[in-house]
Amino acid sequence: KYGNRDNKYKARIKILVKALGAEKYRELVEQEFAELKGGEMTLTAEEVARIKGCFTAPDYQSADTAALDAKLAEDKAFSRWFHTNTRAHKQAGYRAVTLTLKRTGRVPGDISDEQLEAVADLADQYSFGELRNSHQQNMVLSDVAANDLYDLWKALDALGFATPNLGLLTDIVACPGGDLCALANAKSIPIAESIQRRFDDVDYVHDLGPLDLNISGCMNACGHHHIGHIGILGVDKKGKEFYQVTLGGRGDKLSRVGEKMGPSFESEEITDVVEKIIKLYVEKRLENEPFIDTYERIGMDPFKERIYG
Ligand code: SF4
Repeated sequence: KYGNRDNKYKARIKILVKALGAEKYRELVEQEFAELKGGEMTLTAEEVARIKGCFTAPDYQSADTAALDAKLAEDKAFSRWFHTNTRAHKQAGYRAVTLTLKRTGRVPGDISDEQLEAVADLADQYSFGELRNSHQQNMVLSDVAANDLYDLWKALDALGFATPNLGLLTDIVACPGGDLCALANAKSIPIAESIQRRFDDVDYVHDLGPLDLNISGCMNACGHHHIGHIGILGVDKKGKEFYQVTLGGRGDKLSRVGEKMGPSFESEEITDVVEKIIKLYVEKRLENEPFIDTYERIGMDPFKERIYG
């Protein structure tokens, strides 16, 4: 209805809000909303009931976790994966399992057609045919019986989807960047790979605790760099690929956009920069304090000093 439709770069809500002013924009939205009320778009109780009927629970079986408890006690690798890559379920005796598509050397979030076929078979076998993609470029089998977890873990391990790094430093979110995207200012995938290789030590990464590292190849932000605890953004400087670092972003309930650290870095420098950031965090953290809490406690200055000082 409004705004500049002739220029696709200007056909944006943010530009319309700026042109009209926030107050006027709000007024128009409220007016539009009031006109819709009571009209054909009204959601009736019958319609809600009809939609609810499409979401029936799967045929859950009664809970028995004896075999699981025994395996957890005897197999350390399985136990680590269980505690890192599976989540509690509202149904007793079931877990939600995340397949991490983040093994070192693999493009974050990539999966081949053959692997997809295999994962679909696992979904049929272990999760009522239910498989979901996650926001973090991983996949989730949502309803797995506790006593199937060990066999599922073995199958996922063989496929390379059982790396126990969910929510940790090497569970990097990266957009396709300059390798595949025509809009990119810089490559994302080689940066992700270089960081994964540098931190290819699962014990160390576990010791660091929860940490989101997100990479975008340009300001369109498909890798959501701005909400990474550590964000990396590809920028163009006179035709050369550079990377800007932000710290302190978060995408949880306390969401906020990360703060720019300072001048950008060349691609050869960026992994060292991440390592310096991590080392400073390790020096400064209190017991069991996650990266984001340490950052919020000590602020940007110590990081700036370490990197640029
Ligand atoms: S952030 Fe930029 S480079 Fe990355 S996929 Fe989106 S548009 Fe392409």
